[in-house]
Amino acid sequence: MPNVATSMHLFDAIIKPILLYGCEIWSPLNFRDLKQNMPENFWGKLKMDFQVETRYERSDFHIERLHLIYCKYLLGIRKNAHNLAIYSELGRFPLYTEALRQSVKFYYHLQSTPISSLANKALLANQALNTNNADCWLKSLNRIMTQTDLREWYTDKSASKKVHLHLRERFKNYWYKRLQTDEAKTGQKGGNKLRNYRRFKTSFQQEAYLNCLSKQKYSQIAKLRIGCHALKIETDRFSSKSKYIDPEDRTCDLCDLGNKEDELHFLMECPYYKEERTQYTDKLKDCPSWGNLQNLEMEPMFIWLLTNENQVVLEHTSHFISECFEKRSSGIKLLGDKSTPKT
Ligand SMILES: [Zn+2]
Repeated sequence: MPNVATSMHLFDAIIKPILLYGCEIWSPLNFRDLKQNMPENFWGKLKMDFQVETRYERSDFHIERLHLIYCKYLLGIRKNAHNLAIYSELGRFPLYTEALRQSVKFYYHLQSTPISSLANKALLANQALNTNNADCWLKSLNRIMTQTDLREWYTDKSASKKVHLHLRERFKNYWYKRLQTDEAKTGQKGGNKLRNYRRFKTSFQQEAYLNCLSKQKYSQIAKLRIGCHALKIETDRFSSKSKYIDPEDRTCDLCDLGNKEDELHFLMECPYYKEERTQYTDKLKDCPSWGNLQNLEMEPMFIWLLTNENQVVLEHTSHFISECFEKRSSGIKLLGDKSTPKT
């Protein structure tokens, strides 16, 4: 299988043109304004400030759904992984940014067509509808440009490129705001699923580890970074009675420390994996930078390991994660067998 960079290039060259066929017409028509009575909380304000981004992020925008399925397959992770983490892990932008760029380009193309042509007549008809405030392609496009602070776009002949860059920049801002909030969409404090990811993800670009390991190995690291795994911090968000469980109360069943079973506890702290951790650190001692790092606190060390770009370190980290998850599965099964009453 080709590496991640090549696979994404193949997607852009072969699949994307099919998905975006005719998008200059249909992509603006997918956009509708939000109702004005949004709640006065973080999510309400975010939706109002980023109407275009939130509209096209919705899973009923079918071409984006396919784009994300491809990205998740490539990373080897489950379909319910957090979409925003997928984009930033691969340095990808949603396809609407490209679709709207083509719409703006098409608008200029229509303006340059001969007055007697059918295309030009269609543009004039759209302009008349727009003036009368009737729903039409041009009105939708204008509305998007207003929402994305690009209202003066039509005065500039090189607008399509600028629109593209501007939409990408806006998406990065949207991503950053979603990354930094502590609040889940349902309102619970500390409920943001990206709470671990933001510890180390600081820039929106494709990660180096994806292109120097086999898929089997890089997907182990991707699962832990993105929070797409079986640790209780992800699986125990709600009790059997659908009651929200605070992240601090999602404690590890495999040790007596009483700490939440999150990625940091699993990789760096839990005594249940002490043997595997010792073997892992023994292997890392051969790495050139190890001497300066061995006295680091737990969290800086965790960040160093999950952001490392050295192939040897990455190979060992992937193996360690895989071993620990295997041991965890056996441990949880054993606990389940013990707690099941014998008949
Ligand atoms: Zn533990």
